[in-house]
Amino acid sequence: MSKHAVVSQILPFSCVDGPGSRLVIFLQGCNYQCKNCHNPHTISLCDACGDCIDSCPEQALSLIHSQAMPLPQLRSQEMLLHGDLIPVNHSPSSSQSKPHIVWDSTKCSQCDTCITVCPRQSTPKTSHYSVEQMLEVIYGQRHFINGITLSGGEASLQLPFIIELFSAIKSSEHLSHLSCMLDTNGSLSSTGWHKLLPFLDGAMVDLKAWQQDTHHYITGRDNHSVFTSIELLVQHNKLYEVRLLHIPGITDYEHDIDALGGYLSNLPTETRVKLNAFHHHGVKGIGSTWPQCTQADIARLANQLTQRGVTNIVLPSLYI
Ligand code: SF4
Ligand code: SF4
Repeated sequence: MSKHAVVSQILPFSCVDGPGSRLVIFLQGCNYQCKNCHNPHTISLCDACGDCIDSCPEQALSLIHSQAMPLPQLRSQEMLLHGDLIPVNHSPSSSQSKPHIVWDSTKCSQCDTCITVCPRQSTPKTSHYSVEQMLEVIYGQRHFINGITLSGGEASLQLPFIIELFSAIKSSEHLSHLSCMLDTNGSLSSTGWHKLLPFLDGAMVDLKAWQQDTHHYITGRDNHSVFTSIELLVQHNKLYEVRLLHIPGITDYEHDIDALGGYLSNLPTETRVKLNAFHHHGVKGIGSTWPQCTQADIARLANQLTQRGVTNIVLPSLYI
């Protein structure tokens, strides 16, 4: 049986998630607990507690206990061409019989009340896709995109699905022209990377802080695996981009600018160093009290990196 993934969203077109125009698949679930997360409802998997059901003003949520599953409904090509987010509404198609939430996207008004009341940093608005179902979505978009990006959450937590999907794309007569990219926090093990590498064209890796203690404070995890992942991807010529999210006074990029600049300047010249500016949109808890990053903050960081030999710097396309 083909692999399945829990999908929080599919974006039919993006020009900031890898090279060219891309279809981006956001998988639910993350192994970091970033205080600055812009989508904290993507961190946990829904445990079907049912707490959100009565809060829904549109009666779009229900709890299913049986094995009977509604058939998947793919969105129309017309919707995709208008660039809408695809509110996926597949339910699990495996034979599992444990309770699960069913979200009826045709009733949903996107008020996000369910996300607000969820006690688990989750959302009922996820769907289960098989590889075949996802290939069907991609097939419908194949003439309009340069490739596929798997993002999250942390997409690599659902590695078997990604490997099977990318493998199918690479061996498909109609899809093999599409590049396959991964947007990751860098926590995937070397064993995992080696399973994925044969089907992977490139990766974008977040380096959320330079020092272990800063990284641990922001994310709840240390960054050993991030450096290991970057090194491994460089060895295999698959490091497309390193991403720095600048939070003035919180991230340590400027404090450790000599070490950081030296490290980044030794990456392959074709690897992009993407600077992103922190903003409050979607952030909850202490992160929402942190200073937002201005254009001047980014310009200063970019200048400091340039002075230390970092060449392929990409600035944010948006400041809030
Ligand atoms: S976002 Fe949709 S499912 Fe959630 S509470 Fe609002 S209408 Fe209901
Ligand atoms: S989305 Fe949250 S509140 Fe709703 S059933 Fe799942 S875990 Fe419970």
